[in-house]
Amino acid sequence: MRPTRLLRDLLGVQDMVVESTHQEISEEDSRWELIMHVRPRAGQRGRCSRCRRRCVGYDRRGQARRWRSLDWGTTMVRLEAEVTRVSCPEHGVIVAHVPWARPKARHTYAFEDTVAWWTARAAASVVAEFLRTTRRAVQAIVERVVTERAGQTDPLAGLRRIGIDEIAYRKGQRYLTCVIDHDTGRLVQAAEGRNSDTIDKFFDALGEQRTKELTHVPADGAEWIHGPVKIRAPHVVLCLDPFHVIQWATNAVGKVRRGLWNTLRENGNTGQASDVNRTRWAVLKNPEDLTGEQRTTLAAIAKTNNRLYRAYLLKEQLRAVFAARGKTGRALLAGWLTWAARCRIPEFVKLAKAIQRYRSLIRNTLDHGLSNARSESTNTHLRVLTRRAYGFRSPQALITLAMLTRSRLCPPLPTRSTKD
Ligand SMILES: [Zn+2]
Repeated sequence: MRPTRLLRDLLGVQDMVVESTHQEISEEDSRWELIMHVRPRAGQRGRCSRCRRRCVGYDRRGQARRWRSLDWGTTMVRLEAEVTRVSCPEHGVIVAHVPWARPKARHTYAFEDTVAWWTARAAASVVAEFLRTTRRAVQAIVERVVTERAGQTDPLAGLRRIGIDEIAYRKGQRYLTCVIDHDTGRLVQAAEGRNSDTIDKFFDALGEQRTKELTHVPADGAEWIHGPVKIRAPHVVLCLDPFHVIQWATNAVGKVRRGLWNTLRENGNTGQASDVNRTRWAVLKNPEDLTGEQRTTLAAIAKTNNRLYRAYLLKEQLRAVFAARGKTGRALLAGWLTWAARCRIPEFVKLAKAIQRYRSLIRNTLDHGLSNARSESTNTHLRVLTRRAYGFRSPQALITLAMLTRSRLCPPLPTRSTKD
């Protein structure tokens, strides 16, 4: 194998000529770095970095610039090349295209794709340390990769059923409005804020034709979502996302449990209070996720804490309503409403009223077979992200991270094919 080809393979760049190499002591950590002097192959020279069109040269001589490449073992590798500007009829005077890096990048494609791949799977601080760079660089790289990949596809194409949801971040002080393709679970759009403006902007971007193709919009019942949807897309079937209804019931069980615990403690009944405290996960978790010990706890509540146990059963029965769907689901819902309205547990009487109010939306959900699983997994994932992105200052960082992991914009590792 000729040395040039070997070097190109090692660097992961094909349309490039390696002219020479030298070693240099790094200013940052006083270790040897490998500097490779490179230039684009003839066919790749003199092209606009945005449209890749062949253009008239603007500079006679270029400026030397460096790009960080992936390390070779423990050695840092940088590419160095002269960068010239060209005069593009469409984009004006602009930096010429180089085959190893994105425009404005200071890292090679291989390095940037590796950063993005890792960031989809680990905290930015871990990625930064592992690849010997900064969190700021990681964030800028991920933004560039996401923007480039988002520009290559149309995220709004082919939408039929879209879920609209809000995600709280910064301890619930700020919100993102997320639009999710209900059929695939793909995050279509994430935008700052939660008001009718954000919904209007989404419909503006979607356009008239694609709006007509929408069939269902499951959401959480909030007026700021349902109001604009009714105006902008009057033909769609509005539904209540089952995920939210079950979450309301889970919250109600939590309140019953806390109320009971407080009463027992106030009455000096510490033994029983700590028993109730132990029930926390048993009553809030889905039955299929319970451990053996939690099952025993649940059996004990059935005997000693009738009220808490009934609250638990009410929550589980509501889950059964959405699991059944269709006609059976409707019948179960009617039964549930009667039971809850008469259960004498204030939290559930209140919930029954709310559900009664949304009954027509819930019927749509049941009739059109919208399941809970997908929105639940997307929602859980985004919540995890908000915690991971907590250190980031701007909502843009969170949006970028959400798009990277949930909109199928994550690149494969260099030289590997995409599997997911
Ligand atoms: Zn151009």
